[in-house]
Amino acid sequence: RPAIVWLRRDLRLADQAAFVAAASAGPVIPVYVLDDDTPRHRKMGGASRWWLHHSLAALDADLRKLGSRLVLRRGAAADVLAELARETGAASVHCVRHYEPWWRNAEKALKEALPEGCALERHHGNYLMPPGSVTTGSGQPYKIYTPFWRALAQHMPPPEPLPAPKSLDAPKAWPKSDELADWKLLPTKPDWATGFAEEWTPGESGAAERVDAFVDKARHYEDRRNLPSIEGTSRLSPHLHFGEISPATVWHATMEAGGSVETFLKELVWRDYGQNVIAQYPDYGRANAREPFDAFPWRDADDPEVRREVEAWQQGRTGYPLVDAGMRQLWATGWMHNRVRMVAASFLIKHLLVDWRVGETWFWDTLVDADYGSNATNWQWTAGTGVDSNMFVRIMAPLTQSEKFDAAGYIRQWVPELADLSDSAIHDPEAAGKFIKGYPRKIIAHKQARERALAAYAAMKS
Ligand code: FAD
Repeated sequence: RPAIVWLRRDLRLADQAAFVAAASAGPVIPVYVLDDDTPRHRKMGGASRWWLHHSLAALDADLRKLGSRLVLRRGAAADVLAELARETGAASVHCVRHYEPWWRNAEKALKEALPEGCALERHHGNYLMPPGSVTTGSGQPYKIYTPFWRALAQHMPPPEPLPAPKSLDAPKAWPKSDELADWKLLPTKPDWATGFAEEWTPGESGAAERVDAFVDKARHYEDRRNLPSIEGTSRLSPHLHFGEISPATVWHATMEAGGSVETFLKELVWRDYGQNVIAQYPDYGRANAREPFDAFPWRDADDPEVRREVEAWQQGRTGYPLVDAGMRQLWATGWMHNRVRMVAASFLIKHLLVDWRVGETWFWDTLVDADYGSNATNWQWTAGTGVDSNMFVRIMAPLTQSEKFDAAGYIRQWVPELADLSDSAIHDPEAAGKFIKGYPRKIIAHKQARERALAAYAAMKS
């Protein structure tokens, strides 16, 4: 009897425990279910769908080299898989565990729905440690990042990655499969993703290339990671999000590079931390962890003036060059440098005084690495609403940040109308007396925005 491997954000063959376990038991049926029902309003955004299309195509090609293939089905995952198990007489369904609340529910529902004699086997492997398993002395999961990191580090290094299977036995007959093209995951009119293809190679071999390229630079990570003009970070986030490479593989590859890589590994652990948070607070993408913020006087996002300002932020037309460069990089490539994500998010929340959830939703739709745990923890961190977060009253100054982190080259790349400005004028053209045709004036002055934000915070406190 065959075993089904249910794939989600674990689209790889190496260090994939579900494949290893299924392959040891006999014929394997790898299946991906496009499920827009179970996550409801959390269904994948546009940029993620672009990535998914290419990642599935790559995985199917890799499977075919092993004598296998990828079966595609659509619908609510638990129902579709239970039906497939009946159809194929499968003895088991193997999957890598996921912690988004909708996936936890789906795993539970699937367990109930599978026909008798067909077991659901859940494996670990998308995180360095299973979320929820790193606990305090009293057995509680951590809420704050730094003690979480310290405790997790005690369990590192992770086990050596599992090798990819050399072949996979095919079932006697392949169950029918949808055509990937029929899922229409790619944009057509307009095709906003042309810049994505120039930037990314989704799939397991694309991920391996990124790691190889990064390993040589890993020792410079600490010095360069905050400089958006330099490619100083790994750009592994979408590959890690879709599980095209396991974090254990990344950990070992960077350790082998030698030198001081702790800062990088600490960043990698933020990814585990985000899952650890959503495992405790399933609603973290929607609910302030600090309840007083439920009464925060955000500006009304339905008000036409606020709506215009939010659109200016989305389109990179705020008059703050670093924010605009970041938002345009996001639109063009589906990714934004981490330092700039912090500045752009802070700008929306504190300069425009717009609820962080508006920004979280935009990132969800436009990031190729959009990840429920990481996106929510970072937005709540920036907003000051999270279990672990920056204080609201720490208001990032986008112009100072731009100078401090030497963003001139980055701004020239993404805001070409400012390209001719000098290094000193480009961070704040208006202050330098440069008014560029077509480039907007500042949507709000920094000082005024800061005072308004602090007053709103004081109002909430009282
Ligand atoms: P590197 O610096 O090379 O780090 C290596 C890996 O560690 C990353 O690929 C990522 O998996 C992980 N990582 C690094 N920093 C963080 C972090 N702060 N939080 C969680 N994981 C981290 N990251 C996402 O993967 N998905 C998101 O939806 C997401 N939303 C964000 C929203 C905001 C407002 C902010 C400020 C940050 C967000 N991040 C998110 C975190 C971070 O910006 C990206 O992970 C990072 O920029 C990816 O680039 P990289 O792969 O070159 O990272």
